[in-house]
Amino acid sequence: MGRTLKKLVRDLLEVCQVLSQNTFMPELHPATQKQGTLESWSDLGHQIIYQLVVFLRPPPRHSFQLQPPGGRHVPERCSNIRVVLECSCSSTTGETSCFVHPTHDAQPSRLLRTLCTGSHLEVEKTAGWVQSLVEAAWERSPQWHDWKLQLLPSSRSCRLLLTGPCQVQLCAELLLAVRQGRPGNFLVLE
Ligand SMILES: [Zn+2]
Repeated sequence: MGRTLKKLVRDLLEVCQVLSQNTFMPELHPATQKQGTLESWSDLGHQIIYQLVVFLRPPPRHSFQLQPPGGRHVPERCSNIRVVLECSCSSTTGETSCFVHPTHDAQPSRLLRTLCTGSHLEVEKTAGWVQSLVEAAWERSPQWHDWKLQLLPSSRSCRLLLTGPCQVQLCAELLLAVRQGRPGNFLVLE
């Protein structure tokens, strides 16, 4: 069962990646096998809970910058992760305008507009966005439709209750994180 649940969650995350391509929203990347400690199982008797750290990778021309905890400039309700826009004026692709130096008719960053307050990532908005992305991915994963997916309320993570054939119930929790500094360092949004 554990293997099935892992496969299901990874399938869903792959569809999420496809859905967020070219949207200028973050991409979801599960912890790789090398970082095996980033997933855990607990057996509550009636239910198995699988927790997995999922990294939010910033879209092109954006980066995530960790602010010191308790920083004075972090708005209430926000994480201390600041979204930084990168200048792309000298980029050769030139299909879209630069976020830092936009032309008058340019679209502002969708990530800043929808998931941030000011330039800080808001955890609740981010968790809500991930939940709707996972729901959309589920709609596009008919191979799993002998299972039933229910999103459990969570303001900081994405919790899935999966009911399989024979009424077996599995719970998966995606803990959202951002990589920081050297490989292996990351910060879980909470
Ligand atoms: Zn620029």
